[in-house]
Amino acid sequence: MSDRLAELRRSVEQAPSGFDWDAATWREAGSRLLDVVVKASTEWESRRPSPERPDDALDLFQGPLPDSPVSFEALVDRIERELIPTSAYNGHPRWLAYITASPAPVSVLGSLAEAALNQNTALWRIAPGATAIEVQTLGWIAGMLGLPETAEGIFVSGGQMANMVAHAVMRDAKVPWDVRRFGMRGPEGSAPQVRIYASSELHYCHEQAAEILGMGREAVRNVPVDERYRMRLDSLTQMIAEDRARGDLPIAIVGTAGTVGTGAIDPIPELVEVARREQLWLHVDGAYGAFAALAESCPPELRALAEADSVACDPHKWLYAAIDAGVVLVREPGRLEHSFAFHASYLETADRGARVDLLERSPENTRPQRALKVWLSLQAIGRDGYAAMIDYNIRLAALMEELVLTTPGLTLAAPRGLSIVCWRVEPEGLHGEELEQLQSDVIEALEDRGIAMISNAQLRDGRAALRACITNFRTRPQDVEAIVQASAEIGAEFARSSGLDPA
Ligand SMILES: *Cc1c(COP(=O)(O)O)cnc(C)c1O
Repeated sequence: MSDRLAELRRSVEQAPSGFDWDAATWREAGSRLLDVVVKASTEWESRRPSPERPDDALDLFQGPLPDSPVSFEALVDRIERELIPTSAYNGHPRWLAYITASPAPVSVLGSLAEAALNQNTALWRIAPGATAIEVQTLGWIAGMLGLPETAEGIFVSGGQMANMVAHAVMRDAKVPWDVRRFGMRGPEGSAPQVRIYASSELHYCHEQAAEILGMGREAVRNVPVDERYRMRLDSLTQMIAEDRARGDLPIAIVGTAGTVGTGAIDPIPELVEVARREQLWLHVDGAYGAFAALAESCPPELRALAEADSVACDPHKWLYAAIDAGVVLVREPGRLEHSFAFHASYLETADRGARVDLLERSPENTRPQRALKVWLSLQAIGRDGYAAMIDYNIRLAALMEELVLTTPGLTLAAPRGLSIVCWRVEPEGLHGEELEQLQSDVIEALEDRGIAMISNAQLRDGRAALRACITNFRTRPQDVEAIVQASAEIGAEFARSSGLDPA
């Protein structure tokens, strides 16, 4: 044996320890953590929806990285004593802020299974089951939205990434030169300015996508909205005509199925027609609203998203999936690969047949098995179960809207869209700046007093409003009644204390 070989052997005789667990350790550690998780996912009556001790977060999570091991038990204790009180309970029945859904328990355990199996869903060869489950789940979702079975898609981290993928696909589908090779300046360096049309109520991620993809934020035209916060068709067609006359290159329309502000649904059937006539790509951002297509009370114009060229939707919103799970679907097969495939030589596998390497359809390489938790939930709850709960959320919002309309001191601020209600607290005696300030004061008081977690909206005319979005399977009528009532009472209380008696 050479000295070198002997020395190398000696150097690896003692392996570092502390990484692996035997079955008993797994069970013990797992059940301790599960206790904490179960407690945090039940016992809602004893808790407020917003973080209990938000201000402690910075102090609690400062300090040096330990050199030597800390026991897992001590770490779980920190989760229980420090992390949970500085976390929001977005599964709480009165969590109606932003568009953050309550996670279904089956999807939470699905996340655990995803992590444990640790499949890299980039290549079929190393994740055949996970890949097939992702493809099947995407097919189910396409079916739920009315898209053809042949539509292709990909799971991504959320709506923002789903929309960005869609922007890459629409750009590469509609720009008449090879953008992947030449970029936006084109082969001659003198390409026209591309244009994408979205309403002024768009999610900012569309502008960000245009930035990241090199089209520039100016590529996105903000089409004005009507009194119901929907894209105006007359403005849309006028802008397209003006841009064409100027020599620009219109490529796509982005309709929104449920805007983040008020839940408005753009006139999608008409957008389908305009897109066909103008030969533009039609993308529908249904990150929030797409799954309302399942509900009986779904506005019919939303269902027309089935005609779009691509759709973004968020299982971590209205399919109550644990974060993260976003989906983009593209009607025409091959379009995702057209935008993302690299066919890297070291990844080539012989005769792939029907097997698909999802990295060829995605901007990600190593990718988690995000679909598993959704695949589990869809089966455990069933299509009818989802349809009923989404419908119930919409009906609760309709009840909330009616309560606002009939409660003195409150006004409905915008027409209800799907499960989003926007209202204003307008006690007598308050005006102007004071009244604007009151809106955010009431939102804050609802949070501080542990009554509810809602968020704010900005109205078309710039005024502020309170906003509740019900994508929560735990919310009940008494919760929405309590929130509406409390907002009126707090408004009156603040008006009195500002020295102006509303009576
Ligand atoms: C939530 C939302 C997004 C962003 O999705 P994330 O999952 O937060 O990344 C984009 N567009 C709309 C309409 C949304 O509601």
